[in-house]
Amino acid sequence: MKYALVTGGSRGIGKAVAIKLAADGMYVIINYKSNKEEAQDTLQKIEEQGGAGELLPFDVSNPTEIKQVLGGWMENNQDKKIEVLVNNAGINSDNLLVFMSDPNWNDVISTNLNSFFYITRELIKNMLINRWGRIINIVSLSGQKGQPGQCNYAAAKGGIIAATKSLAMEVGKKNVTVNAVAPGFIRTDMTKDMNEKEMKALIPLNRFGTPEEVAEVVSFLASEKSSYITGEVISVNGGIYS
Ligand code: NDP
Repeated sequence: MKYALVTGGSRGIGKAVAIKLAADGMYVIINYKSNKEEAQDTLQKIEEQGGAGELLPFDVSNPTEIKQVLGGWMENNQDKKIEVLVNNAGINSDNLLVFMSDPNWNDVISTNLNSFFYITRELIKNMLINRWGRIINIVSLSGQKGQPGQCNYAAAKGGIIAATKSLAMEVGKKNVTVNAVAPGFIRTDMTKDMNEKEMKALIPLNRFGTPEEVAEVVSFLASEKSSYITGEVISVNGGIYS
């Protein structure tokens, strides 16, 4: 059985990814920050479909907590190797740059970008030793084309896209693949205040996407089926930009 860590697995895209990877036969470690109820709901849905997993709360922006909680899990479970990492947890804090505060900038960079570095560094060593691994980073349309009001978020996501390509070159020889999935507008808590009726006119497929549609692509990238794909960014955006 493969072990997968999904950050931000309590809600939205992360919840759908956790449920899908469990349906694919993986044991899923569900990370979240504070919403225990929703994280337990993810686990319950996994168990209802005959899968298995556990909760592992930590703040992905906090390197000390990552060392303690994730490092502690690895120490206590040396027989279990996390072979699939989905760096999904993320926040936005939109504002025009001229009005952007230091916390506006720093919170988004640390949660969305620094987390990639801290968590991936923690897990990649075992993947290299075992000569198999899958790292999937959830980025964004904003990180590909830019978006007004999102200089912080676009910088974080664009940074992960560049790191995805670089890391893929570093670890390919060890059979570890590193890819990114770039959703457009997906129906989750993050987009609940947007007006889908108005915005869908911008989207060739004429609607927002679902978390499950993103999870299908993550599932493919986490599987053997994607064995010759690395350093890629796959858009899941209804045709809005590619
Ligand atoms: P949601 O707001 O629905 O869920 C966010 C998830 O991230 C929650 O599980 C939350 O945990 C977790 N999280 C947030 N901060 C932290 C933290 N510091 N430590 C640990 N977990 C944290 O977001 P989405 O599902 O919409 O987004 C998921 C990813 O997809 C993000 O990276 C986002 O940037 C990206 N994305 C989303 C798009 C969309 O249209 N929805 C479009 C493009 C990209 P908790 O429940 O405990 O708060």
